[in-house]
Amino acid sequence: MIKEIEKLNKEAQNSISSCKNLNELQELKVTYLGKKGRITNILKTIGKLPAKQRPKIGQKANELKNKISSYINSHKKLLENTKQEKIKEEINLDITLPGDKIPAGSKHPISKITEDICEILSPLGFKTVLGPEMETEYHNFEALNIPTEHPSRDVFDTFYLGNSKNAKVLETNKTGKWLLRSQTSTVQIRIMENYSPPLKIVAPGKVYRPDTPDASHSFMFHQIEGLMVDKNVTFSQLKGTLLFLAQELFTPDIKVRFRPHFFPFTEPSVEMDISCIICQGKGCRVCSNTGWLEILGAGMVDPNVFKTVGYNHNKYTGFAFGMGVERLAMLKYGIEDIRLFTENDIRFLKQF
Ligand SMILES: [Zn+2]
Repeated sequence: MIKEIEKLNKEAQNSISSCKNLNELQELKVTYLGKKGRITNILKTIGKLPAKQRPKIGQKANELKNKISSYINSHKKLLENTKQEKIKEEINLDITLPGDKIPAGSKHPISKITEDICEILSPLGFKTVLGPEMETEYHNFEALNIPTEHPSRDVFDTFYLGNSKNAKVLETNKTGKWLLRSQTSTVQIRIMENYSPPLKIVAPGKVYRPDTPDASHSFMFHQIEGLMVDKNVTFSQLKGTLLFLAQELFTPDIKVRFRPHFFPFTEPSVEMDISCIICQGKGCRVCSNTGWLEILGAGMVDPNVFKTVGYNHNKYTGFAFGMGVERLAMLKYGIEDIRLFTENDIRFLKQF
């Protein structure tokens, strides 16, 4: 009996150590230690042995039971480790490496500047409004006091829609031909046609002009238009608003200056310069050594515009301003070519 137990010990040791997978190991566990297993069978026969032999055989059989249990457990650990190693090898996994970053999008610089400007003007009471990109000659020119013979109405400066036959069909007494708006000032007219003063609006959007694309020209770009109409609106309010905008958008110690200019829809009209944000006014290539950068056009709303939309120009005054968003973004972020905004180069876009 003792010999049989020792034989079983060797056999179990060999079969367990040569076992290749966890399923096989489980089968071996049943073979040796299960309810009908070989060790159990030995333990069952002990009762039939002579009383003298029972304690020794019982002790040996129990020792064997524990040994087989420990062979199985240690081989199980070995198999599990090998299995993990194999998985790691198969998928080439190094669990100590940091996780992959999920790429996040970023705001387009044009959207960013547009939102910044609308947010800066919001606490002053300016509401953001939008208007159509397909416009009428009336809203794009006539109502803005731009006469029929004005050069900007030429086909070389405006995208007219449809051939002349279509244009005639669409033409009404008041609207003239359809076109792609060449300025966001059209939104001023649409708002004033539909709302009574007082009002304060800021209108961002796309505009279109038949320019040949180069580093500083594009046939589609973005503008932001501002308009305030109320009783006793003054030029100093316009200056204060624009100074605040420049300080918030660029830097608090920025300087501004206003130069007389001409726009058909404002009188008096000005262009506003800011002190060069690249050289701080000392003079550089970007500001052509003047120390100043022109960033927008503005002025007091021309009484003719008020007359056109039916406002009482004796009772109300107002100011308007308009700026090119691409130019502001180029200055603010040091971008040298306007075409970068529309090339969809992810390396460029993810910098913002
Ligand atoms: Zn400069």
